[in-house]
Amino acid sequence: MLRQTATGRNAYRWLHSTSGRYNRVHAPPDVAVSSMYLSKFPLSTYKDSPADAEVISHQLMLRAGLIRRLASGLYSWLPLGMRVIHKVERIIRDEMNRSGALELRMPAVQPAELWRESARWDAYGPELLRFKDRHEREFCLGPTHEEVITDIARNELKSYRQLPVNYYQIQTKFRDEIRPRFGVMRSREFIMKDAYSFHTDTESLEAGYQTMRSTYETIFTRMQLEFRIVKADSGAIGGSISEEFQVLATSGEDAIAYCDADGFAANVEVVNLPPLADEAPAPSESLTLVDTPKAGSIDDLAQFLDCSAKQCLKLLLVKGSDTPAVGLLLRGDHELNAVKAARLPAVDLPLTMLPADAVHAATGSIPGFVGPIGLDIPLYVDHSATVLTDFVCGANQKDKHFRGVNWGRDLPLPEAADLRNAIDGDPSPNGTGTLQIARGIEVGQVFQLGTKYSESMGATVLDADGKTQTMQMGCYGIGVTRVIAAAIEQNHDDRGIIWPAALAPFDIVVIPINMEKSTLVAEQTHSLYAELRAAGYDVLVDDRPQRPGFKFADADLLGLPHRIVVSEKTLSNQQIEYKSRTASESQLVARADFAQWLRAQD
Ligand code: ATP
Ligand code: MG
Repeated sequence: MLRQTATGRNAYRWLHSTSGRYNRVHAPPDVAVSSMYLSKFPLSTYKDSPADAEVISHQLMLRAGLIRRLASGLYSWLPLGMRVIHKVERIIRDEMNRSGALELRMPAVQPAELWRESARWDAYGPELLRFKDRHEREFCLGPTHEEVITDIARNELKSYRQLPVNYYQIQTKFRDEIRPRFGVMRSREFIMKDAYSFHTDTESLEAGYQTMRSTYETIFTRMQLEFRIVKADSGAIGGSISEEFQVLATSGEDAIAYCDADGFAANVEVVNLPPLADEAPAPSESLTLVDTPKAGSIDDLAQFLDCSAKQCLKLLLVKGSDTPAVGLLLRGDHELNAVKAARLPAVDLPLTMLPADAVHAATGSIPGFVGPIGLDIPLYVDHSATVLTDFVCGANQKDKHFRGVNWGRDLPLPEAADLRNAIDGDPSPNGTGTLQIARGIEVGQVFQLGTKYSESMGATVLDADGKTQTMQMGCYGIGVTRVIAAAIEQNHDDRGIIWPAALAPFDIVVIPINMEKSTLVAEQTHSLYAELRAAGYDVLVDDRPQRPGFKFADADLLGLPHRIVVSEKTLSNQQIEYKSRTASESQLVARADFAQWLRAQD
């Protein structure tokens, strides 16, 4: 519903209508509309995709001049990209403030002592970038801010009367990711909106969590993204209850398991797969050592032996907590679930795959040919691999495997555990129907932390009886820069980006034809620019001395929602040419009252 407010020109904001939909409306004069002539805006676009950009959003963000790479996982945001960041941040701030959360700002550099108090200095692993100052004091670059906010809470909050409270910031984070990739989707430095709530009891925490969950739904709906809320692992952050907001995209790094029949939806990381009722058929083959030259991968092995990947057993070796190696056995077509593996008592944390030399020390063989027969290390086998019969596995000798292997007869059945990721067709944990798998990009996550940080760091308040009480805590993150890449993954065509209107760096591009030669075109361009700005639009005028075809291609690449062409030809009929980014054809529209006409199209 469009709601007009009697406010200043050159400004607008979004209002939440009761129907839950949003529309752009005129707004208070504090938010200035900034428009631009391209002759004053050093835009540099590329025609071709940079070779090192694997996913479409990364390619288009480089081609359209939104970002530039500085080093691995480090990106500069050019002025065009910065405008999108501001749009994203404005929506987030708007909704966080509406929910009653309070904005603050914490330092990016954090002292080691705080991280020692929460025991995460040792637990966090190499993603935490650590360094020393000139006085040899230890610091880290903040990957997240639970420690700092808990320190603030224990100093500032004294009484139950001050609770609940939710603090948030929009701030730069650093994680020394093992594999930075996909541009700003998985970068090392990125912008996050992080919020932390403090409560007297678990009921209040649950209520605060639900408020944030629905605030996030509103935020991603306003960004016009197609997303799903899924159950999630709480990972290095901690706590028990957690959900992720996943933007659906084939390029997504996460796999989501869902079941339309019973509404189940979870990150595959947390889908429990109990033992199957099936029993292993009786063995029919004898154990045989076979030559498998160069067949070190499951695919090569299955092809070489003319069997299916399901018939192969793979052995993955990870670092043990008390032993140099622990073996994890899975069916060849299944993937190890790192979250589940990390729960095994014999496995060291953080979960570490053994490098080739350690694999050799544990098995006498090289990766690709290792197997469980005769190995004297702790072993676990995934439930689904316990029912294999006459299977294939590595023989701990280069270029050799065993065929016709059977549990009990050829080797003892190790302890069975749930070790794998769910796949298409697995039964739904809710009991009805089967699971389907979709790809997603995690743009946000909400957690009920409980007392994980408040307990270890002593964050307490006095309750109504004057007794000391440990605060309950929740935390809530949105990847500001990742969400921009996710929006492009969902909204593009072969010509470029198609911005959701709420995120577009400008609303409209005006392309004058022959402006240098025609006073009429120049005058009309300037007056249109002024009118559209006054109507609350962000306008970009492409007054560069380039051919129209070049400007049209750039307009499509930049993906602004509306394109207007001003030429003597159409002006002679008091018309201009209009095309929305998603339409295939342009149309002629009366020059007079154009802004009003455009508003009516929303
Ligand atoms: P992931 O599983 O993708 O590594 P995470 O679960 O570790 O992310 P959180 O701690 O939940 O991330 O951080 C909150 C949000 O920050 C994430 O939902 C995501 O949108 C964003 N984010 C996390 N890591 C990165 C990164 N390396 N680059 C860009 N955004 C990130
Ligand atoms: Mg997360």
